[in-house]
Amino acid sequence: MPLSNEQIASLLGMINTAEQDDIDCDGCFEHLAQFAETRLANQDIPDALRTVEIHLRQCACCKDEYNALLEGLRVLEGE
Ligand SMILES: [Zn+2]
Repeated sequence: MPLSNEQIASLLGMINTAEQDDIDCDGCFEHLAQFAETRLANQDIPDALRTVEIHLRQCACCKDEYNALLEGLRVLEGE
């Protein structure tokens, strides 16, 4: 049975949504410093940085990078 136009549109919609919620490591790294500073200041994570939060949960590599960055920022603040 062929897919109806509605089913196709709904499938395409799912793909588009998935892409919007997902960033690669380069995209994550671009916003990583901003994300760490926001976290360190105990501010709410803006929508623009939600993708970074999601990526960090999925990517051990970027999470290491983030933890190192956070540690560095803490040291700077402590001085
Ligand atoms: Zn990553």
